[in-house]
Amino acid sequence: MSGREMSGARAVRRSLCLVWILFATVFGIAQNQSGSNLPPYKNPSVPVEQRVQDLLGRMTLQEKVAMLSGADWMQSVPNERLGIPSIKMADGPLGIRSWAGPSAETSAPTSKTKVMTTAFPAGVAMAATWDTELVQAEGQAIGQEVKALGRDMILGPTVNINRTPLWGRNFEGYGEDPYLTSRLGVAYIKGVQSEGVIATVKHFAANNQEFERHRINAVIDERALHEIYFPAFKAAIEEAGVWSVMSAYNKLNGVYCAENPFLLKDVLQKQWEFKGFVVSDWGSTYSTVATVNAGMDLEMPGGEPMKAWLKRPKTQEAGNGGGWLVPEKVLPEISAGKISTAAIDDNVGRMLRVMFVSGQFDKPHTATGEIDTPGQRAVARKAATESIVLLKNAGDLLPIDPSKIHSLIVIGPNAAMARTGGGGSSLVTPRYSISPLKGIQDRAGKNLQVSYALGVSMEGEDPSKDTPEAREQLRKEAVSAAAKADAAIIVVGRYPKLESEDFDIKSLDLPAGQDELIAAVAKVNKNTAVVINAGGPVIMSKWIAQVPAIVDMWYGGQEGGNAIADVLFGEANPSGKLPVSFVKEWKDSPAYGHYPGENLQVEYAEGIYVGYRYFDTKKVEPLFPFGYGLSYTKFDYSDLKISPTETSSGKPVEVSLRVRNSGSRAGAEVVELYVHDGHASVDRPVQELKGFRRVELAPGESKTVSFTLDRAAMAFYSTAKKDWVTEPGQFDVLVGSSSRDIRVKGSFGLEP
Ligand code: BGC
Repeated sequence: MSGREMSGARAVRRSLCLVWILFATVFGIAQNQSGSNLPPYKNPSVPVEQRVQDLLGRMTLQEKVAMLSGADWMQSVPNERLGIPSIKMADGPLGIRSWAGPSAETSAPTSKTKVMTTAFPAGVAMAATWDTELVQAEGQAIGQEVKALGRDMILGPTVNINRTPLWGRNFEGYGEDPYLTSRLGVAYIKGVQSEGVIATVKHFAANNQEFERHRINAVIDERALHEIYFPAFKAAIEEAGVWSVMSAYNKLNGVYCAENPFLLKDVLQKQWEFKGFVVSDWGSTYSTVATVNAGMDLEMPGGEPMKAWLKRPKTQEAGNGGGWLVPEKVLPEISAGKISTAAIDDNVGRMLRVMFVSGQFDKPHTATGEIDTPGQRAVARKAATESIVLLKNAGDLLPIDPSKIHSLIVIGPNAAMARTGGGGSSLVTPRYSISPLKGIQDRAGKNLQVSYALGVSMEGEDPSKDTPEAREQLRKEAVSAAAKADAAIIVVGRYPKLESEDFDIKSLDLPAGQDELIAAVAKVNKNTAVVINAGGPVIMSKWIAQVPAIVDMWYGGQEGGNAIADVLFGEANPSGKLPVSFVKEWKDSPAYGHYPGENLQVEYAEGIYVGYRYFDTKKVEPLFPFGYGLSYTKFDYSDLKISPTETSSGKPVEVSLRVRNSGSRAGAEVVELYVHDGHASVDRPVQELKGFRRVELAPGESKTVSFTLDRAAMAFYSTAKKDWVTEPGQFDVLVGSSSRDIRVKGSFGLEP
């Protein structure tokens, strides 16, 4: 690390320390001024580190070791004698996963009934908003709900990079770019932790496929790790002060992530100075000594539920491991001298530190059961609306003017069902959800007649409609109704049974004959719009040329149907931009040929060339590029100013420009800034995202948008120096509306 970077990092860490102290103060001193008779660890006015040491000093070795493995499915082990609470967790990150059953039962009034919470849009949709304030508001709303359920910790955000469009969990993450992912991860964590709730950035590291996720060894070069797969975790620690990190299931370069000293000791603790605790992913531990010594602090799940679960053939078949940090296994290794008591103190101390800092000792969360409040719903609605990306709009088919047409048919397996998210541990059961059909019906008004046809049944959803004959019949009905309507909207995509944690997507083609349905409808109705309701790219080659309008609503959470209706009818301007490149064909993807690996090993042979870094540098034409999204209005870019145009090491560069809404509708534009380094001594991608702003503009209005480019915007990771370096020379600044729609350009020089 260079001197300046060092001092920059120090400054960040200093301010983070202040954040940790501030939390301790807000949740501590303010609570109890009369704590002088309490033992130091119970006294909120005592500095946190002292409280940690005091409490560790009072604990027996057995009591410490008891804390290393969970109490059950979603809680850590409490200690009644000393009044150490358990850390009560809730699954995330797209809201709070609904649960029922004793291991995660809350003390909320709703206890014993299924907990229903606000379903926010999928992570990829949140990323499509490019709106850090909104993501922070989402994090805060989730933090409030966690608290209201009497829980302490949310298992999110997911910041793994979308390496391949086939990853089953692409919908959960923030897309293919490490800078965008970092900004959004930081925002989410700040929002959650502002409520005194522990955020958990996951899964560290390189959990980029579900195929054999418990056994696969991801082989990744050092530069790709630092430039692509690590930045969001680093930012979570250094900028957001995240309190917890979840280790990943897979192996990284030959070593399981939960016992990986390179990841947990060298990178997390030494390089990034992480002060919080590491929790294992559920059932991802395979050893006692190596796991404890690597600094994996809390094994989950634990207790009886863990034992029962590990015995299940399905769990064993999947390759889960667990039950390694239980006292029966840890204590003998301590006696044998293979684990030191200092290591135990460090691991337990990390959990205690977070419990003190987050206020668990001084201000425990009382379950109020106030969930899905109007404010939280409003965040979900705004997010769903802002996430929608207009991909094609030939002849300005959209927005629909309900006074100009009389009949509209809504078709498709995702039209009448609200598909709020993908499958797995992130799936939220909301109290209500709005389907696209419902949203459209509510918005259409009296003069527009809205009809509906299923068109095709989703694969595996209803066996009676899932035969070739039934499909044929359903398609016929939809096509003949579409032929009579003034316009057609077809809502297609996937659903949790086909897009989920635990398995990868079988194919990028739309399942269940949806391609044929679209092509047939578009043939009979020239005013056909396709709405995509899925967690990532789909192949469109069979119909894209015939369909004038295409909109991507992702998985929009409980408000998705209202949001898509707002956009289709022009009450909201589509302002989302793609956080992932859309390929024309799977074979165009950089991971093609290096996925899903062989003999339980996957080599990330594309290195740093992930997403647009690959398409732009290797000159492969995507279907829709990273950062792309159309609008109902127009934005003009002008007056790019860069100052200074010659900078010396360490001095930031200021960039500003004017953006004007030259169309006739209000709307937001996401302004994207890319940097090109043409002089580096190593290969670099043609361009890399280094800044973005989302600006709301009324018709005719213009605003100045500014960015500060610091060394991080110029640096690459040098494997020779094992550090981030910048090299003198010219850097081009490219600002535009997408990675392939650069509107203004300039440059600055970096002096030796
Ligand atoms: C997932 C985690 C999740 C955990 C607990 C695992 O299968 O990978 O993201 O938080 O389960 O449900």
